[in-house]
This record gives sequence, structure tokens and C-alpha cells, in this order.
Amino acid sequence: MINVTKTFLPSFEEYTTILKKAWDKAWITNNGMLVQELETKLQKYLNAQHLLYCGNGTIVLQMALKAFNITKEVITTPFSYVATTNVLLWEGCTPVFVDIDPENFCIDASKIEAAITKNTQAILATHVYGLPCNIELIEKIAVKHKLKVIYDGAHAFGTEYMNKPLLSFGDISTCSFHATKLFHTVEGGCIICHKEELLRELMLMRSFGHIGDEYFSVGVNGKNSEFHAAMGLAVLPHINSIIEKRKEISALYDRLLSDSNIRVLNFDKEKIKYNYAYYPVIFASEKDLLNVRILLEQDDINTRRYFYPSLNTLPYLKSASACPVSEDISRRVLCLPLFPDLEEEKVNQISGTIKKLVNI
Ligand SMILES: *Cc1c(COP(=O)(O)O)cnc(C)c1O
Repeated sequence: MINVTKTFLPSFEEYTTILKKAWDKAWITNNGMLVQELETKLQKYLNAQHLLYCGNGTIVLQMALKAFNITKEVITTPFSYVATTNVLLWEGCTPVFVDIDPENFCIDASKIEAAITKNTQAILATHVYGLPCNIELIEKIAVKHKLKVIYDGAHAFGTEYMNKPLLSFGDISTCSFHATKLFHTVEGGCIICHKEELLRELMLMRSFGHIGDEYFSVGVNGKNSEFHAAMGLAVLPHINSIIEKRKEISALYDRLLSDSNIRVLNFDKEKIKYNYAYYPVIFASEKDLLNVRILLEQDDINTRRYFYPSLNTLPYLKSASACPVSEDISRRVLCLPLFPDLEEEKVNQISGTIKKLVNI
């Protein structure tokens, strides 16, 4: 069975050697030494001014909204994982969906201003598949209308934009370190910001709002454990080779699919150093997609419909505007298996199956 991704695991010894440091002290959570070590290393790798390692990639989005007191309208993307919309609803905010750019699948920044009202407080956008949003235009609009910019960078680990880590943009950027993501700590996530004051607030939020016997603010449990941090410390030394392998496999798919009528990712290699987090393909029709999916399943190959459905069509939304581009692409996009030890023979087989069906 081949899945769309396969979690990278370090050797068991690499993991346990690191974990033993915490184990021997019997200090296994609450800002332990491994959490602190991982934070320092991630901060360096991501060139982040302030970074907090947290429980997952969802709680960090909730913390970001809380830190900025966002309770009203938030301009957001309909093309993302459902968590991006759910956090807004969970925090009592109103998601205002702006359609996506058909080229990079991120929010179409040129359509943001038309959606701003007197109740708009923030923009929450996703760097879809690890490719950057229109950072410059979003920044310009945010400054003009005094809006906070929060980037859901769950896919963005390792991508660089204009020679800077993609996670370093926005008022806050978040990332997910879930086992299905490029860099993982089993479960986990981080939040990145640039202001000392904000860091302190987020730090309190992460840990119930108190330090010892001093109580400052309303907090939640956004912490993560030494067991999770140990996984991160064991995976991190492999990250460059993980990205390199993914790049090679993506290039092989590109080559094999180049003479087919399906669309593959296209990005500006001058400005973007991509992390190869996903390998999405866009079919001419949903029917093609469903047929290919069935054929691949017969060979025990599982693809995923990232992202489907378009989030503006979620059944529990009270109201949402139409987003024709996102609705169309979400029906036609499929992510193909991509992970470091995916065999060349399998990439050949998958590409062959696709071409057999769509090239007739
Ligand atoms: C995975 C993901 C999340 C949620 O991260 P968790 O760590 O699973 O909570 C949020 N947003 C996007 C875009 C994601 O892909």
C-alpha cells in the first residue's frame, strides 16, 4: 500500500538517545530541556526572531487570533485544510472568503480590498502546498487598512521567498509539525512573531496564562512534550536530505507527466526556493480525477483530494460568498504520493496510469 505521504522516521536509536536526556531527569513536559533545544534549533533554521514550539498547527492559529483580539471579520482563503476555517469559527470570528489565484492556489490578493468592511480585522491566508501568497500586495493592503496578517504556514517549512524563510513573513506565521507534514514532531506546531511583547503574551497563552504563582491572563494549554520535541530533534538533521529527495521525485513526475494534458505546479524558481511539500496535479475534469483515483486504488496507491471541498461550501457555514476558481480547482486537484523513499518504479507506474487514462 502506497499512501500520499509516509512519515519520515529517524532510526529508533537516534530518537531514544535524544529522549534519554529528558527521561533520566524525569522531566517530560512543561518547557523541558528538549523543547527549549528544539526551539533554539528551529529558530536558527528558520531564521525566526521569536519562535514558540506548541501542541499542534491548529492551537497556534487560535493563539494568534486571541493575541490580536480578533473577534469579527477575517478575510481568508477557501482553498486550505479545514482547520484554517474552523479556527475562525471556533474563535467566534466570521470568515470572509476571497477567491484564489488560479496560478499559485493562494488567496487572490487583488480581490482582498473589495471584501474589506468596517468590521474586517485581519487576513488569514495559507501558503498553499508551501508556495508563497502574494506577500507584497497583502502587506500593502494590511498597512493601508490597519489589518493584522496571519499566515497559516502549515506547508511552508523550508520554503524560502526572496532568500528569506517563508515563515518569517506576516505579523504572525504558524506551522504544523504533524506526522503528515514535511518536518514533523508526531504532533506539534510553532508560532513565529517579531515583537518581544507579543512573544511574551503568546508564551503566557501557551501555558494557562501564569508563571508559577503569578497569574497574568487567560491562557490555554498550547504546550508540547519532551517526547515530541525529541522526535523533532531527531528529524531535523535529516531535513535537507528529505527536501532534496522530494525535489528529485517531483522532477521525475514533472518529466514523466510533461507530455500529458494535466497541469503540474509551476513557480518562479528565481524568487522561490521550494520545499516540495506536495505534488498536486490538476485534471481537465473531475471525472478524469475520479477515474484515475479508482485505477490507482486498484494498485493499492492512495492519493488525496487536497483540498476538497472548497471551504466556502462547508455545510455548517451560515453564509459564504461563491468562490468559483477555488470551487473549480478543488474538484479537479489531486495530490500524488510524495515521500523520500518512494521508489522510482512507483513514480513511473503512477504517471503511467494517469497518462493511460487522460491522454486518450
Ligand atoms: C495540517 C494543517 C493544519 C493543522 O495542523 P495540525 O498540526 O494538524 O493541527 C492547519 N492548516 C493547514 C493548511 C494544514 O495543512
